[in-house]
Amino acid sequence: MTPAIAKAICVLGGILWFVIRYPHQRRSWTTPIRASARDARETILLSVSLTGLGIMPWTYVATGFPRFADYHFSGVLAWTGTLVFALALWLFYRTHADLGRNWSVSLEVRNSHTLVTCGIYQHIRHPLYAAFWLWAVAQALLLPNWVAGPAGLIGFGTLFFFRVGREEQLMIETFGEEYRAYMRQTARVVPFVY
Ligand code: SAH
Repeated sequence: MTPAIAKAICVLGGILWFVIRYPHQRRSWTTPIRASARDARETILLSVSLTGLGIMPWTYVATGFPRFADYHFSGVLAWTGTLVFALALWLFYRTHADLGRNWSVSLEVRNSHTLVTCGIYQHIRHPLYAAFWLWAVAQALLLPNWVAGPAGLIGFGTLFFFRVGREEQLMIETFGEEYRAYMRQTARVVPFVY
């Protein structure tokens, strides 16, 4: 493993992420929405996440900026990052398969929304966000730079912590006791822990 290969893996992971997402994104445009909590705050959070997981690492890979924050490359860290990225992509794929047409990039309830509690959702309530956390960890392990590496953790972490409570509230308003019972049975992102 070399720094150049680690950077290429980081970019390739992002491209594969997009390839997995694209058909769901297209389908979501034609799936009618019943209720939306998408507001300016959501737009800002999505932009912060995109900056940390996309713009900053991609700028680093393309230009080397910010070079002053580089640290010594470790092959072991980069290989670990590659494995974590593979796991993230698998989880991302599985989650979209289970969530189907209920998926939204923001906080929305579809006309024909169903509560998903099976498949990967029987283990945790937010597997899609778990996949994003893994992606952010992989980025930190693959890029030997104190700014571009952890940027994904900070960017996605901001989105996650400002959004997850609101999302659960929206699910309670939509599904009531069914979602409350589901909350009692599952953790948010780490089974049995959080
Ligand atoms: N937080 C989930 C889903 C992210 S997609 C995860 O990490 O896997 C965001 C949309 O999913 C929200 O607009 C919400 O309406 C919907 N959603 C969240 N949990 C759901 C569930 N268990 N079943 C169906 N839809 C859900």
